[in-house]
Amino acid sequence: METNPTVAINISDDLYGLSNTKSDPRDLPEPDVHIVTCDALRIPAHSSILASVSPVLENIIDRPRKHRSSERVIPITGVPYDAVLAFVRFLYSSRCTEEHMEKYGIHLLALSHVYLVPQLKHRCTKELGQRLTIENVVDVLQLAKMCDAADLYLKCLKLVANHFKAVENTEGWKFLQDHDPWLELDILQFIDETELRKRKTRRLREEQRLYLQLSEAMECLEHICKEGCTSVGPYDMEPGHKRSPCSKFSTCQGLQMLIQHFASCKRRVNGGCLRCKRMWQLLRLHSSMCDEPDSCRVPLCRQFKLKMQQEKKKDDARWKLLVRKVVSAKTISSLSLPKRKREEELGETRSSHGIRSFRL
Ligand SMILES: [Zn+2]
Ligand SMILES: [Zn+2]
Ligand SMILES: [Zn+2]
Repeated sequence: METNPTVAINISDDLYGLSNTKSDPRDLPEPDVHIVTCDALRIPAHSSILASVSPVLENIIDRPRKHRSSERVIPITGVPYDAVLAFVRFLYSSRCTEEHMEKYGIHLLALSHVYLVPQLKHRCTKELGQRLTIENVVDVLQLAKMCDAADLYLKCLKLVANHFKAVENTEGWKFLQDHDPWLELDILQFIDETELRKRKTRRLREEQRLYLQLSEAMECLEHICKEGCTSVGPYDMEPGHKRSPCSKFSTCQGLQMLIQHFASCKRRVNGGCLRCKRMWQLLRLHSSMCDEPDSCRVPLCRQFKLKMQQEKKKDDARWKLLVRKVVSAKTISSLSLPKRKREEELGETRSSHGIRSFRL
């Protein structure tokens, strides 16, 4: 006994969206079940097809009826009729038009979750993720949480975190604040953690940059002491032998100036000169990383090695860590960057400053 006035939908050829599929809608038997939507509209359907795609619908269909003769009715309310129709079409054809996805994606996700239709859920999750906007993100986020759509939920969270100022002004956010403070808390916590992660990444990148600079300085130091560059070269090299700037000249030039200073400074390390102290540290760092102290041309390399072997210093562990980080920074950069070739033969020859020998 129906109390509500109902309107039956005529079965036209494309009611189930089968017109472009292999199945011919005319092959279908008479519908044996009706889906009733919120406006009391009825969609005729076939229990065998519904049951084969959705285990939840199968359960409903298999439920014993009060009277054998009474017709089978499945109520799907709470979403617009057209969304239910798009859902039913998917059950028949495994298809959903772009237009329907655009209009009813949210409803279809809810339906696919409630009625356990994984293919549709997968499609909705993907498409909703691509259609996220500042305006709809909070609604989609809430739905994604209810539907256990973890990927979509995370995507929403990231969007909220990256555009929080704008999202905060949306109706969706205001509604969420009033109705779901726990979810609000989750979101705020995620934003906090994202900020923290970003800061940590920034710090690591800064550190990495520093170690890379040091590793480049080590390369330049060896190159200056072995081959010589624009203004500083090995003590036994012909003076006036002009060279072009190398490929790492910005680092190399600074180092050459530091070496020139170190060779002529009157105060030196013990006199408290900071530039000499830096040079001293670079020479020591080189020695810690050097494999061939006996034949090495870098000043003090052997002396530092011997000294380090003789006395086990307290800061040994920290120093070793520094050496390891500089070495690994070099490895990482050589893996991620194309090898920069030395452009010794290219470019203008810089004027030599006259100091070709570097002796300590
Ligand atoms: Zn150079
Ligand atoms: Zn000095
Ligand atoms: Zn060395």
